[in-house]
Amino acid sequence: NLHIVVVGAGQAGADCVNALRQQGFAGRLSLIGDEPRLPYRRPPLSKACLLGQAGVDSLGLRSAAAWEKLDVEMRMGQSVEHLDRAARQLQLLDGSRLDYDRLVLATGSRARRWTLPGGDRSNVHTLRSIDDLQRLLPAWQAGRRLVVIGGGYIGLEVAAAASQHGLKVTVVENQPRLLARVAVPLLSDFYLQLHQDHGVEFELGQGVAHLLGEPEVTAVELSDGRQLECDLVVVGIGSLPNTSLASESGLEVNDGIVVDAGMQTSDPAVWAIGDCCRHFNTFYQARMRMESVPAAQEQAKVAAATILGKAPPAHAVPWFWSDQYDVKLQMIGQPVAEAELVVRGDPAGGDFSLCQVQQGIIVAAATLNRTQEFVALRRLVGERIAVDAVALADPELALKSLLP
Ligand code: FAD
Repeated sequence: NLHIVVVGAGQAGADCVNALRQQGFAGRLSLIGDEPRLPYRRPPLSKACLLGQAGVDSLGLRSAAAWEKLDVEMRMGQSVEHLDRAARQLQLLDGSRLDYDRLVLATGSRARRWTLPGGDRSNVHTLRSIDDLQRLLPAWQAGRRLVVIGGGYIGLEVAAAASQHGLKVTVVENQPRLLARVAVPLLSDFYLQLHQDHGVEFELGQGVAHLLGEPEVTAVELSDGRQLECDLVVVGIGSLPNTSLASESGLEVNDGIVVDAGMQTSDPAVWAIGDCCRHFNTFYQARMRMESVPAAQEQAKVAAATILGKAPPAHAVPWFWSDQYDVKLQMIGQPVAEAELVVRGDPAGGDFSLCQVQQGIIVAAATLNRTQEFVALRRLVGERIAVDAVALADPELALKSLLP
């Protein structure tokens, strides 16, 4: 009678226990999470929740009744403090111990904090959890001046929601363009214009030198010495994988818990999935760490299969979405700097697609408010279907006609 324990009750952990049951596991199953609530979706935290369109009660991944039906021993509000791999035993914060036969680490990632002076002031926020949201909401008031540090997805989603809510927003980004790590320059330019059209101000190519003021931050000093007065600060400078249980127990960690294509560590009893792991991706034939809901969902299923002794399904091409104002961005694959860029539609109108073509194949794509093209592009990129770049640029061409 095997006992499978999943540590971390976020997207990946919740999906993994579900997948184990769906794939036929009838033995003892435990899910342990340090947040004091049932597993929930994080994407709305920086979107619908900040816009006042969704309450935290609507974020649950499944209802309490559905969890009960799944027959999982749920230990919420319990942190796992120590992993003893030799004894196959976990130690929890309350001192209790739990034995496992198979262990899945699904501990996610945490927001990178501002570690320089001022980062601990009460009006400096990060946004990773419902607790973070509940700390932020009392200050979320029209007319307040918000400085967002970081022009990545979360920073920009916060900026979009804030400006729609009537806050006065400035985004500080030390790269010369927005989304520099993850998007082609044309997309960066589009988002800059979109936000400026909504009244958001930008300081690009500017570092933050100091957070000034006590007991609360009253101004952000930029690297060129100028000061931006503010009432609150949101820091969106990326995240760090939660790997301490793995590293303390001697598992390999390299910006993520290292796992193979089946999400298994070098310990045959331990798997890792979701934001916390660096897996061998069969689509790219490379090791990578991914931070997205689709990746967490896929890895949860792959791990469930290999735990149960089945062959791991292949990884699909990665994809991701972001909602800002009335623009839905969907991205497929990883941008390649050298690839040829094909633009479909009119970027100024906010309804277009971008395809990156290399050696007759679309290697990455982004669609804005074009969900049908996204569906076709997922297949074109994922199945590496040959295309003609000139034909692709024709806005009249229906992409699904290129599918076999
Ligand atoms: P998490 O969801 O972080 O869950 C990990 C859980 O493990 C947490 O509850 C953590 O507290 C718990 N834990 C950690 N250590 C322990 C321990 N020792 N003991 C017990 N419990 C522990 N992705 C998209 O694809 N699209 C989006 O639009 C999008 N928007 C986002 C917006 C925000 C504001 C955030 C924060 C994320 C967003 N993401 C988005 C990313 C997505 O939410 C994550 O990739 C996904 O949640 C990863 O799931 P996970 O289970 O690996 O980690």
